[in-house]
Amino acid sequence: MTIKEIIFDSSLYQRFKNDVQIDEDGVLMDYTLDYLIGEFNERVEMYCTECDSRRIFATDEGVYSDTRRVSNIHFPHTQIKNKPSLFKSFRCSQNEHHSIHYGFLVDNTELVKISEYPSKYDSVKDTFNKFKKILDKSFITELSKAAQLESFGYAIAAFLYYRRIFEHLIIKTFKETEIPHKIAEDEYRKKRMEDKISYIKEYLPAYFNDNSHIYGILSKGIHELSEEECQKHLSIVKTIIFFSLEEALEIRNNELRKEEFSKKLNKLNTDLK
Ligand SMILES: [Zn+2]
Repeated sequence: MTIKEIIFDSSLYQRFKNDVQIDEDGVLMDYTLDYLIGEFNERVEMYCTECDSRRIFATDEGVYSDTRRVSNIHFPHTQIKNKPSLFKSFRCSQNEHHSIHYGFLVDNTELVKISEYPSKYDSVKDTFNKFKKILDKSFITELSKAAQLESFGYAIAAFLYYRRIFEHLIIKTFKETEIPHKIAEDEYRKKRMEDKISYIKEYLPAYFNDNSHIYGILSKGIHELSEEECQKHLSIVKTIIFFSLEEALEIRNNELRKEEFSKKLNKLNTDLK
């Protein structure tokens, strides 16, 4: 994972080896992830839950500000410095009070993501409502559950939910598409995921075919899936789902606009008579 992915895409409680080496002009240099996260200063486009829109976020500099040493009642003689934990915060370009925070803890030789606010779920839940026009309510709920599970780091559970939604979209495409000599739905449902997709291949957006390498994973049983595998493929499955939902929504909105337009036109014609 890149530093950017570790900050933004990793799940809660995911662990990384803190010591890393970076190739700088052919020389391997030693770094630590907490240092690199502290130094990260790219601007990133993210969903701002306050603006309810995608915005450019810039990082607050100086995550290692000098905090004073504190004592703990259990260890009155030990002075504790707030050092091994670090908060990385980003601010919205529209408003200085709109911020996103990520917390990390250096636990011996490892770095652990310990917090994220707003959660991944908060960042996506509002976008689900717009899919009401094209998805049944039950699938909107499942989409929310998947995002919640993902934001808590339950990759396998989230993956299973996304897989159900994915399958639903595939079946929906099968049902709604005119295919010459179409097989019965029961027969279609029995096919493996890879075969289901290849049957309706021509009717899917190119993005489905470009990422066909993940369909083998989608066919696997729960016991065959590892947490890492799910985590790795989660973002592709999600992208395919959201990509096709956006596309379906655009088609639906176009239909609605056309209906609206012809209504207006009819009214105009009637008024002219
Ligand atoms: Zn904002």
